Amino acid sequence: MLLRWLMRPARVTSVETLSPRFRLIALESEALKDVVWTAGQKVQVAMGAGLSARTYTPMSWDTAHGRTRLLAFTHGDGPGSRWASGLRDGDTCQFFGPRRSLDLAGLMPPVVLFGDETSFGLAAALRSNLHAGGALHMFEATEIVEARHVLEAIHLNEARLIARNAGDAHLATVEAEFLRLAANGAQFVLTGKASSIQRVSRTLKAAGVASSRIKAKAYWAPGKTGLD
Ligand SMILES: Cc1cc2nc3c(=O)[nH]c(=O)nc-3n(C[C@H](O)[C@H](O)[C@H](O)COP(=O)(O)OP(=O)(O)OC[C@H]3O[C@@H](n4cnc5c(N)ncnc54)[C@H](O)[C@@H]3O)c2cc1C
Repeated sequence: MLLRWLMRPARVTSVETLSPRFRLIALESEALKDVVWTAGQKVQVAMGAGLSARTYTPMSWDTAHGRTRLLAFTHGDGPGSRWASGLRDGDTCQFFGPRRSLDLAGLMPPVVLFGDETSFGLAAALRSNLHAGGALHMFEATEIVEARHVLEAIHLNEARLIARNAGDAHLATVEAEFLRLAANGAQFVLTGKASSIQRVSRTLKAAGVASSRIKAKAYWAPGKTGLD
C-alpha cells in the first residue's frame, strides 16, 4: 500500500513504433506536474501488480503540462520489453521517480556520451540540457540500420554508430577515438552495457583521464535484471 502511495500514475497519450524494437512512449498526468527533473534521472515503471519494475530514462519532462517521454528498446522477452511492445494509447501505468541516477549537473562541453540502444533517450535529454557546443554521441548497436533510423527520428542525426562484434573487438575503435578526444579535454558520460563501460573507463583512466571527468552508469548486463 505504501509503495503504491509513492508511485505516480500516468496515462499513455501516444506510443510511436519508431522501428520493430523501439517505442517512443508519451505519458501524461497531473502527478507529473509537481516534479523537479534533470536530464540523466531515471523512472522505474511498475510491471503489473507486483513489486517488480523496469528502469527508463525520460527524454524530456514538461512540468507545466505534466508530460514526459520515454524511449524503450524492446530487446527481448523480459517484462519491460513486453510492457513497451504491448502499450496502447489510453493505457495507464505507475512509476517511481524521477529519481537520481546520473548526475550531469555542471557538465560542460566538450562532452562525449557513450552508450547503446538503451542510451538514446538519455542522449535526447542531454541535448536539450547542455550549453552551446552539445555532445558527441558514440553508440554501439547490434542493428545499425535500425539504430540509425531511430536516431534520425529523434533528431540525433550526428550520432556515431559502431556495430557490435564478437569478442567486443569494436570497442578498440571506440577507445582509440576517446583517447583522441580525451587529449582535447573532453568529459565522458558512459552508459549502456556494463562490460563495455568498464572496459572503456579502464582505458581512459589508464591513459591518465581523471575520474572526475568520467561519469558512468550501467543500464544492463547479460544475465542480470534490475541493475538499478
Ligand atoms: C538508470 C537506467 C536507465 C535506463 N534507461 C533506459 C531507457 O531509457 N531505455 C531503455 O530501453 N532501457 C533503459 N534502461 C535499460 C533497461 O532498464 C534494461 O534493458 C532492462 O533490463 C529492460 O527490462 P526487460 O524486462 O526488457 O529485460 P530484463 O528482464 O530486465 O532482462 C532480461 C535479460 O535480457 C538481457 N538484456 C537486458 N537489457 C538488454 C539490452 N538492452 N540489450 C540486450 N539484452 C538485454 C539481459 O541478459 C537480461 O538478463 C535503463 C536502465 C537503467 C539502470
